[in-house]
Amino acid sequence: MQMKSVRLHGVGDLQIHAEPVPVPGEGQKLVRVKAVGVCGSDLHWFSEAGIGDAQLKHPLVLGHEFAGETEDGRRVAVEPALSCGHCEFCLQGHPNLCASIIFAGHGEQDGALREYMAWSEKNLFPMPDSLTYVDGAMLEPLGVAIHSVDLGKLKAGMTVGVFGCGPIGLLIVQMVRLMGATNIIATDLLPHRVEAAKSLGAYHAVLVGKGSGLEEVRAAARGRGVDVVFEAAGEQEAVDAAFDVVRPGGKVILVGIPGNDQTSFNAGTARRKGLTIKMVRRMKHTYPRAIDLVSKGLVDVRSLVTHRFPLAQTAEAFRLAARREGLKVMIEM
Ligand SMILES: [Zn+2]
Ligand SMILES: [Zn+2]
Repeated sequence: MQMKSVRLHGVGDLQIHAEPVPVPGEGQKLVRVKAVGVCGSDLHWFSEAGIGDAQLKHPLVLGHEFAGETEDGRRVAVEPALSCGHCEFCLQGHPNLCASIIFAGHGEQDGALREYMAWSEKNLFPMPDSLTYVDGAMLEPLGVAIHSVDLGKLKAGMTVGVFGCGPIGLLIVQMVRLMGATNIIATDLLPHRVEAAKSLGAYHAVLVGKGSGLEEVRAAARGRGVDVVFEAAGEQEAVDAAFDVVRPGGKVILVGIPGNDQTSFNAGTARRKGLTIKMVRRMKHTYPRAIDLVSKGLVDVRSLVTHRFPLAQTAEAFRLAARREGLKVMIEM
């Protein structure tokens, strides 16, 4: 049996292929893919033919935010990371730090922008009827947001910053509101994202620009500083702003992925403030919680999906997403 897939051949070069449907290996199920979200990390692959220290080595199928239907008719959200389950880090409860992790749509492993994929049964999470396949695909970025907020160890009544309001930032805004933050300051360079942050629960949503907007952020923090800042832009300016406004003894959680693979901060500022700095590595154990949060209506993933394209128009979808026009761009099959 043949299927359609979309492979990245080089910078900006996505091509449609016809290829055999994969045969599930041991412990795997064949999944008919129904919805795939385009992630900021996919856009790094698309526009740089790599991400961080990983480079494109063969025509790669991207896509790691997805949901589909198994051969036996189950509607499932799919966790894209396959951890080994027996290394030191897996055994200590950190599968996201697994030494031999395999991730859909990364490095040597093809992802979900194809009609079928074979994936580990233990990574398939059945969804309640109230969740659509598109909702299911959103559980992956929601998982990253949940894990990020877990690392922030929030207390009710805190002042929290969310710098960068793409889909992950907007999910973090909702999560910190849910956790009882009483002052949420969200920033972005784009007006439509600032608007979305406001409507999804930010108390202060600030449009920032090159060197502007920081005064408004400081004022919103009432001079005292922010308890925890989530940097979800992957931009040095946002990192700088985070270290500027975080309070002494506060936390900076770095969620964003910088384009040039470098992040810097002023060591003197960080030391004098006695800051805790954490890096977010994907997520762990988040799918059941993400499913509950969405099905109980506590987190809105649906309004983040602004564009939908069929698989055949994946290249167009990526170009639109790269222009940062909407929020989440979805491929539906
Ligand atoms: Zn992603
Ligand atoms: Zn492992």
